[in-house]
Amino acid sequence: KSVTDIKPILKALNIKEVNDGCSTGRKSFGSGSEITSYSPVDGSAIAKVSTATQDDYNQVIKTANAAFLEWRMKPAPLRGEIVRQYGDILREKKHELGTLVSYEMGKSLQEGLGEVQEMIDICDFAVGLSRQLHGLTMHSERPKHRMYEQYHPLGVVGIISAFNFPVAVWCWNTALAWISGDVCIWKPSEKTPLCSIACQNLFVEVLEANNLPEGISCLINGDYKIGEYLTNDKHVALISATGSIRMGKIVAQAVAARLGKSLLELGGNNAMIITENADLNVAVPGIVFGAVGTAGQRCTSTRRVIIHESRYDELKDILINAYKQLRIGNPLDEKNHVGPLIDKDAVKAYESALKKVQSEGGNILVSGGVLDGEGYESGCYVKPAIAEVENAYEIVQHETFAPILYLIKYKTLEEAIDLQNGVVQGLSSAIMTTNLREAERFLSQQGSDCGIANVNIGTSGAEIGGAFGGEKETGGGRESGSDAWKVYMRRQTNTINYSEELPLAQGIKFEF
Ligand code: NAD
Repeated sequence: KSVTDIKPILKALNIKEVNDGCSTGRKSFGSGSEITSYSPVDGSAIAKVSTATQDDYNQVIKTANAAFLEWRMKPAPLRGEIVRQYGDILREKKHELGTLVSYEMGKSLQEGLGEVQEMIDICDFAVGLSRQLHGLTMHSERPKHRMYEQYHPLGVVGIISAFNFPVAVWCWNTALAWISGDVCIWKPSEKTPLCSIACQNLFVEVLEANNLPEGISCLINGDYKIGEYLTNDKHVALISATGSIRMGKIVAQAVAARLGKSLLELGGNNAMIITENADLNVAVPGIVFGAVGTAGQRCTSTRRVIIHESRYDELKDILINAYKQLRIGNPLDEKNHVGPLIDKDAVKAYESALKKVQSEGGNILVSGGVLDGEGYESGCYVKPAIAEVENAYEIVQHETFAPILYLIKYKTLEEAIDLQNGVVQGLSSAIMTTNLREAERFLSQQGSDCGIANVNIGTSGAEIGGAFGGEKETGGGRESGSDAWKVYMRRQTNTINYSEELPLAQGIKFEF
């Protein structure tokens, strides 16, 4: 696809050549320097976005605080109705937004559309949830007393997001935050600013149709310095930050210093265990999609395959052959399996990781390399690589955000689980087995230490119905389904006395 094909998409999403990077809804501004968004697909400059200054931010937080006072008073099911309408607009604009995601970020069109589908799904989930923000009732130890707990809106939620899921992660947060009665300020990745402008423009349609106040959905574009306005601001009740472990450590400390709340969704180093009882017809597509899908730029990408020695050579040969069939190229062309990396810095990180694999003693089975020539003008297309390694190598312990797959051999399941858990990250994990005992062991408290543990499913991708997130240096946060909504609300315990006396708890007597 040529650059010109993107023009009707930009028009449909109301994206101009130069866009205001800050918004409180209908009002947009942004007096900081401009970011030019380049497509990794063909290297062209798509459009520009202005960034936020401290003054712009001050205006945003003031408007958000005022909006919160109004928004929290709308009954939760009415807040759900607003989210339902947003989901409908996303359904109408799925093709346009999905195409922009693919063109600006570089993932395949199918995955771009899948991201918008995830937004639609979480909107549906949030609508149902808006009638179910349940608390509990408890029995009081005191006569004629009643005790219960309830959830109230929290305040302003700051959302910091990564480039690789430029629209879905925001929606996971914002759909739940909105039905919870919170208002949101989004600091998107500086690598995918246009996706944020598109999402906000679509939300403005809902604001206008319902005559809602400014400030329910706010946007501040820019780099990490703009993110710091949010993390350091005591008026922001919750910071939900998705990105690297390096970023998470800085953000967590800034938020903790003011005793704010944070929800962290950080890097993964995901492994799949292939036992002697694995069905390779299930395992192989899971490994290949997990390793090369989104060009290895998913937090849940499969980085390590831990293989029983009895299946090692067989699987190694199958994977080498499968990699020969991969087509690398324009992700908007459905024939291609692997698109570009996000930018040239990511290409450099990929090249240096491959060098490090060799210098630490790894054996390259499928060579990597950067592609050039026709169709690869952006300089961001790389070949997916496979290497035989030891889990203890420094480079294997580290998440390289690129399609590099490591193979590791094991003898006993206990050893395999130790290898799988033997990294600092704890996001996603999988076991491929047809043996019940192996599967249950992997899922037990002696098994995987990750937030996500799958049986006969790859590590990559997740449904919105479950809580999503990981342990250890992945940050411990949970987003999306299950009871993840609770982090967007504050819990209050209420005790009511309808007697004519004042009995104290624990039978304490206080007489005068
Ligand atoms: P990144 O850490 O470079 O940036 C993420 C976001 O944080 C950006 O918006 C950036 O501007 C902001 N940021 C960086 N430093 C900051 C600071 N000091 N204060 C405030 N904001 C700051 O990550 P990336 O390269 O965009 O994304 C890739 C990483 O994200 C990978 O490690 C991946 O595993 C992780 N990720 C995790 C999940 C998850 O759910 N666990 C999902 C997607 C991506």
